[in-house]
Order: sequence, then structure tokens, then C-alpha cells
Amino acid sequence: MHAEIIAVGTEILLGQIVDTNTRLVGQVLADLGIDVYYQTVVGDNEVRMRAAIDLAAKRSDLVILTGGLGPTKDDLTKQVVAAYLGKQLVEDEAAMLKIKRHFEISQRKMTANNRLQALYIEGSKPLANETGLAVGDFYQAEQGPDFMLLPGPPSELRPMLFKVALPLLKQAYRQDQILSSRVLRFFGIGESQLASQLDDLIENQTNPTIAPYAKDNEVTLRLTASAKNEQEAQALLDGLESKIAKRCGQYLYGYGDDNSLAQVVMTKLREKHLTITAAESLTGGQLQAALTSIPGASQAFMGGFVTYANYAKEKLLAIPAEVIDKHGSVSEQTAILMAEQAKQKLGADVGVSLTGVAGPDSLEGQPVGTVWIGIAYRNKDGYAQKFHFPRQRKYVQARAVLTALDLVRK
Ligand code: ATP
Ligand code: MG
Repeated sequence: MHAEIIAVGTEILLGQIVDTNTRLVGQVLADLGIDVYYQTVVGDNEVRMRAAIDLAAKRSDLVILTGGLGPTKDDLTKQVVAAYLGKQLVEDEAAMLKIKRHFEISQRKMTANNRLQALYIEGSKPLANETGLAVGDFYQAEQGPDFMLLPGPPSELRPMLFKVALPLLKQAYRQDQILSSRVLRFFGIGESQLASQLDDLIENQTNPTIAPYAKDNEVTLRLTASAKNEQEAQALLDGLESKIAKRCGQYLYGYGDDNSLAQVVMTKLREKHLTITAAESLTGGQLQAALTSIPGASQAFMGGFVTYANYAKEKLLAIPAEVIDKHGSVSEQTAILMAEQAKQKLGADVGVSLTGVAGPDSLEGQPVGTVWIGIAYRNKDGYAQKFHFPRQRKYVQARAVLTALDLVRK
């Protein structure tokens, strides 16, 4: 069983809009365990749409089309699919009523072309459109591939896909096996480095499968197991995860699609009833912004300092001018003092500091990307660690924030 997605719309070909529908449909099918072998984009053109459908029908068991269900001349999807199947279009009464009512309420005259939106392919199942007027369609063929037609506007496609289409897809393509996924999140290791450490596991993957994905300074692995039930699937996932953790466990910081390092750190601090503060030079408050972006941050984050100029480091954190003169503002000594002083001043359990050279110019003879991160825990001497992130300014800052969070996490 494999599927194909065809996004219909000239505006996609012209680069005027990004095809997010295919992405969403792809995700839904993947979660259902339905393989997608092809994705196509085709313009609002009858001949080329027909050619795309002919090709898809030869190689796929399910063809899902998005877009072109509307009332205008360029909306042709239903007509072209119906013609391919040799079927008529028939009217969905409920949808027709809804369209009529829509025009009554908005006190506009309904033009004939609006009827098109209530039409569906004879012998198929019309899919109700909760947020729009055009009905979708699910055609299950006795021979040849099945077709599903979804509206173009994402605000219409999304509810139709999740509320109406998904249950039908589940029913139609019920698998004996269930699929269960687990997302592992890594920081401090690149995608290729991670992949090479897991080379044999990735090479020989069958069940569970391993899909690496790199994004904004981190790498995720999606492990997907197929099994008779959830318990069996979890056991398979546990087995693979422990193999992975044995090799790269130090970089594994969390689970799930929407987890972040800041989230993990916050949860940890709250669980241990610890408070945190920060003194930032290099990052101008970005670490504190990351911490406060987490709901419930006030339980652990006390507030902190943005001490960009040396004068601010002296004034707000009482860092002696002699220390900065002697060692520089980007130095181990300054980083330690910043973390310790911030912790001291607010009586926090953890003080974190960031000082470095974001660029574009070097500073105090130190190259762009030099970063010192200081950490001071209650009742312990502070320490600082040096890093090099020789890239452009934004990257240096973002990477420094994440690295500081990672140090606190550990
Ligand atoms: P309408 O009734 O609005 O005409 P439709 O089902 O006919 O809807 P289209 O005419 O193809 O769909 O597209 C309408 C709008 O929906 C596009 O202008 C675009 O904003 C959005 N859209 C269409 N296809 C996609 C897609 N693949 N990804 C994201 N947005 C899309
Ligand atoms: Mg349209």
C-alpha cells in the first residue's frame, strides 16, 4: 500500500505560496503507516493535471489531491478526477444548503458556479468542509487506485483532514500492526557525526526504523516501531533507544516533538526546587528570554543581568575593573565572577554567565566565536568553560545560549 500526493495550484509553481498541504498530508499518512512514494505539484491546468493523475494512478494505491475545489474557472480538480474515472459529479444536498445559506446571510446573489462546490464524484463519499464551502471527496475504487480530494486553503484542509478524512483513512487502510514513534533530541553533536556513530544501526534498520532530522543547532531521531500492540512497540523502542544511548547518551537531552533545551532545564530546576539567574554580556538577555519563554518560568527563574559594557559589569555585578583590565572581559576570570556575582546578588541556586565575541570584529585580540560560559552553584566555587563557534553573529549567540542551557542540564 503506498500513496501519492498531488498539490494542485499554479501559485505553488510560481513560488508565490509554500506548499504546506503536502507536508501535513504526508505527516498524517506517515503516522498511519502509509508509505508515500511520490509528491507532485501541478498547475491549474486540465491537460497537465490529467497527465499527473494518469501517472499517479499507474503507480499508487491512493492518490490524494489538494486544491482546486473552489468555484472559479481555475478550480478543476473534481472535474478532472471525475473525467478520469468516467464518473458524473452529483450534488451533496447538505453542502448545497450550506452554500445557499451562506449567500443569504451575506446578502449576496449566488452565482451558478458556486454549485460546483457542492458537487462530489458519483459513488464516492463527500467530505464535509467545516470552515469552507467546497466539499472534499473520498473515492474508493474496486479496481485501480483510490482518490481523496481536499480543499486548498489550509484553514479548510486541516479540519477536513483531521476530523473527517483521518477516520476514513484509518478504516479503509487498517493495518494489523500499529505504529508507534519516539523522538529523541540531541544537542552538541552534528547530524553527520551522530549518523556515523549509529552507522550500522541506521544501515540495518528494519523495525524500529530510524529517521534523523537536523534543525537549528540540534538533531532529532525519530524511531518508529511497528508491532501488534503499544506495549510491544514500546519494548522495541526501548531496546533501540538504549543501544543509541550507549553510544551518544551524553548528547541526548530530551524527547518529543516540541521539547526544547530550555524546557528540559526548567523542568529539571523545578523538580529540584532550584532557582536560576544569569548574567549575560555576549547574548544580551537571550538566555533569559529562552528561560522565560517556558510557561511557569517564574518558579525557577528569578531574573538576572544584562551587562554588555564593562561599565555595566562593574556597576551591576561589582566586577573589579582590575580583573577586566588584567584578563579581559572575554576571559575565564570574568565569566566566573559574572556567574558568581549574579548568583550572590539574587541569592539564587545557580548562576550562569555568558561572555564572548559575537563578531563581526574580534575583541581584545580574541577571534570571533570565542565564548566563555560560567556556572556557579550554591555553596560551590564557580567554573567557566571555553568554546569556539566561529560563525556569524546570530549563530554564535544562539549556539552560546543553547550550550549554556546544556551545561546547566548536565
Ligand atoms: P478556494 O475555494 O479558496 O478556491 P480551492 O480548494 O479551490 O479553494 P485553491 O484555489 O487551489 O484551492 O487554493 C486556494 C488557496 O489555498 C491558495 O491561494 C493558497 O492560499 C491556499 N493553498 C492552496 N494550495 C495550497 C498548498 N498546497 N499549501 C498551502 N496553501 C495552499
Ligand atoms: Mg480555488
